[in-house]
Amino acid sequence: MKLIIIGPAGSGKGTQAKLISENYKIPHISTGDLIREEIASGSVFGGKLEQIINKGSLVPDEDVLKLLKKKLDASKNGFILDGYPRNLNQAKTLDEIAEIGTVIFLNVKDDEVVRRLSTRWQCKNCGEIYNTDAKPEKNKGKCDKCGSALYQRDDDKPEAIKKRLDIFHKETRPIIDFYRKKGVLKEIQQKEKPDQVFTEVKKILG
Ligand SMILES: [Zn+2]
Repeated sequence: MKLIIIGPAGSGKGTQAKLISENYKIPHISTGDLIREEIASGSVFGGKLEQIINKGSLVPDEDVLKLLKKKLDASKNGFILDGYPRNLNQAKTLDEIAEIGTVIFLNVKDDEVVRRLSTRWQCKNCGEIYNTDAKPEKNKGKCDKCGSALYQRDDDKPEAIKKRLDIFHKETRPIIDFYRKKGVLKEIQQKEKPDQVFTEVKKILG
């Protein structure tokens, strides 16, 4: 079971990837986590990545790919890949190192993405995420878990959301067409609740 999950920010792909990982007993692979783990391991390569990030630069594709290849090779029974590929080049490269069986596309419309992200608040202390509509905090502006103040992330502000959507349409749409042509794309239309989405996921994966 070699899977990819794709969707815009706010589509809930992280939540679904986690559910898939737990229910189908396959690792949830996120390239962000791989980079953090490599740095935490204290390896020479991790040290190099840390320097790049500390300078505020993006980790080069070839370095991400190196980490990814190692992890994919170690995941013989399958995986769910989240946050990669982000553009057509990466999709083509990935094609050379793994045979992807199913690509799940969470199709959430732009206005819904804007609505979800602009009502999202995060705890400054523990990182817990709340949503004014779907998951409000019990005491206004305070985290249920630790009582710290909630804030809106810079990338959840209207201008930043618009920019993220533009990038999604420009970079990620071609990936969707790429997998559709290969016959491995499964699309799930937007739903209110994560468990409704997961019901659709189970229909696809069996
Ligand atoms: Zn908290």
